[in-house]
Amino acid sequence: MKKHISLSLKCPYCLKSLMDESYPLHGSPSIKLNIESQTDRGTIHLCSIFECFDHEADIKLEKGKVVDFTCPHCNKELLVKEECKICGAPMVSLLLDTGGRVNICSRNGCPNHYIAFEDLEIELTRFYEQYEN
Ligand SMILES: [Zn+2]
Ligand SMILES: [Zn+2]
Repeated sequence: MKKHISLSLKCPYCLKSLMDESYPLHGSPSIKLNIESQTDRGTIHLCSIFECFDHEADIKLEKGKVVDFTCPHCNKELLVKEECKICGAPMVSLLLDTGGRVNICSRNGCPNHYIAFEDLEIELTRFYEQYEN
């Protein structure tokens, strides 16, 4: 059976944890971010389990629209210059506790997300050490 990996993420700017223990999704703390659509602003909780796309937002998000993500601590915008290879929307980049980044597409409904390691060998080893057993 595939093991569920729950990612622990932090803001790349203020380095504060984005994990919300008071709002678990699928039994793991969720990732809390502020969001802004064309018409509204609110909060989103993303499931922290790798390969799970579930999320709950307190505002209505239109499918196919790009959402602006900001850090709930320092309010910095989390979109980066990189474009999604699937749909061309800006990517959102978050820091992994173990080193490396998780990039997710800012377009609601686009499935693109991946983990990027800058120092592949060191960070990948640390990543697996943390999640083994
Ligand atoms: Zn921040
Ligand atoms: Zn996309």
